[in-house]
Amino acid sequence: MSNDEICDALELSGKLMELHGENPFKIRAYSNTAYKLSKLRYDFNGKTLKDIESIEGIGKGISGKIFELMQTGITAELKELLDKTPPGVVQMMSVKGLGPKKVGQLWRELQVESVGELLYACNENRLVTLKGFGAKTQEAVKQSIEFKIAHSQKHHYATIDVLVKKLVEYISEQQPDLTIMPVGQLRRKNEVIDKIEILMDGEKTIDTKEFESIIPLPVNYIQCEPSEFYYHLFELTATPEHLVQAGFENITEKDFTDEEEIYDQLQLQYIEPELREGLNEVDLATENKIPTLVEYEDLKGILHNHSLYSDGVHSLKEMADYCKELGFEYFGICDHSKTAVYAQGLPIETVLRQQQEIDKLNADYKDFKILKGIESDILGDGSLDYPEEILKTFDFIVGSIHSGFKMTEEQATQRLIKAIENPYTSILGHPTGRLLLARPGYPINHKKVIDACAANKVHVELNAHPYRLDIDWRWINYCIEKNVMISINPDAHHKEGFHDMYYGVCAARKGMLPKEMCLNALPLDELLKAFKK
Ligand SMILES: [Zn+2]
Ligand SMILES: [Zn+2]
Repeated sequence: MSNDEICDALELSGKLMELHGENPFKIRAYSNTAYKLSKLRYDFNGKTLKDIESIEGIGKGISGKIFELMQTGITAELKELLDKTPPGVVQMMSVKGLGPKKVGQLWRELQVESVGELLYACNENRLVTLKGFGAKTQEAVKQSIEFKIAHSQKHHYATIDVLVKKLVEYISEQQPDLTIMPVGQLRRKNEVIDKIEILMDGEKTIDTKEFESIIPLPVNYIQCEPSEFYYHLFELTATPEHLVQAGFENITEKDFTDEEEIYDQLQLQYIEPELREGLNEVDLATENKIPTLVEYEDLKGILHNHSLYSDGVHSLKEMADYCKELGFEYFGICDHSKTAVYAQGLPIETVLRQQQEIDKLNADYKDFKILKGIESDILGDGSLDYPEEILKTFDFIVGSIHSGFKMTEEQATQRLIKAIENPYTSILGHPTGRLLLARPGYPINHKKVIDACAANKVHVELNAHPYRLDIDWRWINYCIEKNVMISINPDAHHKEGFHDMYYGVCAARKGMLPKEMCLNALPLDELLKAFKK
């Protein structure tokens, strides 16, 4: 072990001890020793225990640890500390601005176990509820994680989408004669992006370096003949599987005026870019069976949102007013239920107070309605929060798992099914609890869960937050087959969160969702009927 490695191991031991609330004197001894060793100019290799003990200011106990490190690469003590700390929690200690004490707080009080979860907790405004944390700390933590993510290779679609749209807009403004479009993953609106490709029918003559420096991935520009633009657009958008299935190699002429013309020539129904993955879309297109996909404009309302009553940033009225302003017919409020203490879940008195406020607000609205909902925690045994007399006061209930993620597939599936069978559950919220690029989610048997939704007239959420997009779009087909409707929900914790609906629509389209099977594309009266069992 090099001196640096020894110092790191000592420092990590000290931090983990602090995280687990051990004796402060012992902790200080570790950090002091690590500091001292880092200043020494000679190599430890070949030193005996006696040599180490003789270094000024290093105690006997720690000398033993250093010697153990030199012998085995790790101390029994450090191993034990690591064993009782989730690896994601250890990583959290490297986030700038977070010491071991704060990480321990986040872990124990918010059940945050990875850097990805921590970022999500910042977005949900959770950190401010902890003692010693404030809005400033939360913002600093968020920025520090975002900086780290910005320097990794895979990114959420939303992050890249926004930046590339700006880049393309900028180029188009400077060179209006150029036809320019993103292709590949980006045009297929994949939930995670690791490659940016842009097709142009001419040469880019302006400098875009400044733009590209803020995009966390290299931008690959591909140039083609103007007459062949649509041919290459088609070629570069689809996966190789889609191209083979569609019979791309049979195309000889490269002159097309749009992509519809290409599918015509292939004797296929037109296939939207989002669908060109090479799954079953070509087979369906052969039989003209691809439905018209849901569009943002089809949505009639926004369900599953939070307000200041629980962990949201804006008041109920501010959220509802903004929803109305965006042209929607209804707004569903689903603050957290009482078990979600970390998110200021609503005790019964608060539920009733909120419902009174809703009645008052609704009396003043015209052609717009706030629906009384709740995001009820699904408890460990699959039951919902609140007694029956409270459950029946809601227009609808979203049931979600927020804690106790360590489950086998069997356990998680049973827990969800129990909740689905509850007569008051209307929508199953973020079914797997996954966070893209951060946390895989608990394993579930999708078929069993969706079958249970079908049997109990429960709708499935497609959580539209770009970090979640949960249920995965690959399961939407099966939902449709079982006649289970999909609810595209932003899970908005602030007004701007409504705009995530766009990303939900992207994922829904990848799953081939028609508007007829989208719950919140229903007008209000039909929606209320769908909630009645
Ligand atoms: Zn939730
Ligand atoms: Zn929520």
